[in-house]
Amino acid sequence: MSTSDSLFARSKLVSPGGVHSPVRAFKGVGGTPRFMTGGAGAHIRDVDGREILDFCMAFGPLILGHGNKTVRDAAVGAIDKGWSLGTCEPYSLALAEFITSRIPWVESIRFVNSGTEAVMSALRVARGATGRDRILKFDGCYHGHTDAMLIRSGSGLAEATEPDSAGLNKATLGGTLVAPLNDEAALEQVFARHGAEIACAIIEPLPANYGLLPQRLEYLQLLERLCRKHGALLLLDEVISGFRVGFQGCAGLFGIEPDLVTYGKVIGGGFPVGAYGGKRQYMELVAPVGPVYQAGTLSANPVAMCAGLATLEQLADGRLYAQLEALGAQLEQQLNAIPGVTVQRLGSVFWPYLAADAAPLRSLADLKSKPATPFGPVFHRLLEAGIYLAPSAFEVGFLSAAHNSTHVAQLATQLRVALQG
Ligand SMILES: *Cc1c(COP(=O)(O)O)cnc(C)c1O
Repeated sequence: MSTSDSLFARSKLVSPGGVHSPVRAFKGVGGTPRFMTGGAGAHIRDVDGREILDFCMAFGPLILGHGNKTVRDAAVGAIDKGWSLGTCEPYSLALAEFITSRIPWVESIRFVNSGTEAVMSALRVARGATGRDRILKFDGCYHGHTDAMLIRSGSGLAEATEPDSAGLNKATLGGTLVAPLNDEAALEQVFARHGAEIACAIIEPLPANYGLLPQRLEYLQLLERLCRKHGALLLLDEVISGFRVGFQGCAGLFGIEPDLVTYGKVIGGGFPVGAYGGKRQYMELVAPVGPVYQAGTLSANPVAMCAGLATLEQLADGRLYAQLEALGAQLEQQLNAIPGVTVQRLGSVFWPYLAADAAPLRSLADLKSKPATPFGPVFHRLLEAGIYLAPSAFEVGFLSAAHNSTHVAQLATQLRVALQG
């Protein structure tokens, strides 16, 4: 029995499935999760002391790599001063000013503790602002695990929805409309039928939770236009893409101006932070100024705020995004050269899909039509070779400032070997 095997056996006795978030359980790849004890730069270290090249990067937050010295010093400095105050403090002010002065559509921002919480709160603001009940979301996008977002389409109609989890309040089912991605006609139809009932449309402008399904700009622009026309708010969920594909996220990259935006992952530099923000007229509906209630005992935790600021300060001049784009382009080119691999990518977010077809995949329907090589055996061969991808065929990979061309070449070489079995 390996060290990880025995730790996992013990974990299963004290936590559901032995984990505190499902994808960590290796259900998608089989076998026992490898227990990790730390990380440095582009590497993660397992419990037996093996250094493994990491392309999961904590599922996105670590854009600067593991153990970035400046982020570490900021966090330790905050701990030395006191790690929880429950009062007004200057640390969240500094982070809020840093963001609002650089992202015009974020005039006001509220910090919370996770992406899920950010989305849940932003949806409440949208309902409060419009007096409308329904939310439009898209099949293949993930917005955290609040009831209203754990709903997928049933049949082709936006009205026919199904729960994505047991235990949802059934009343929430009718409150969420679901449309397919990349389908203008379906979008027109759902707004034609329900436009006046929709409080907001929420979308990942770069859907990155079911593989990577980049949307056409015209499609996102149509969504923006339809929201404006029907008085629905546009909520861009930039929990992955925010500060990741560029400082201003996809909104900045694509020139789409959201009414509300949600952040997570990179914004906390690896500490638990989420945030929602947007136009002042909407954010001032939030308590204590407005009637939309939202609160948090540990919100804007000083350690997380200082780590977040130390992260964003290293990103704001755009230099790192250019570096990551260049490295991403190398990765895309080298992985696409492997037979049976199709890479979809934006900047430092990449998804190696193990199917041979270069056609861009943009919706769940596209995925269903392209059978892939089983991911599990390939994942385990890579891990044996010292390379860690996220343990699911439908999780994306991330590059960080700590990755270099040698790391990318190692991935390409080992993936080629792993696919030959
Ligand atoms: C990760 C993610 C969330 C949920 O964030 P948590 O911090 O895991 O609660 C929400 N939306 C998107 C787009 C995400 O990628």
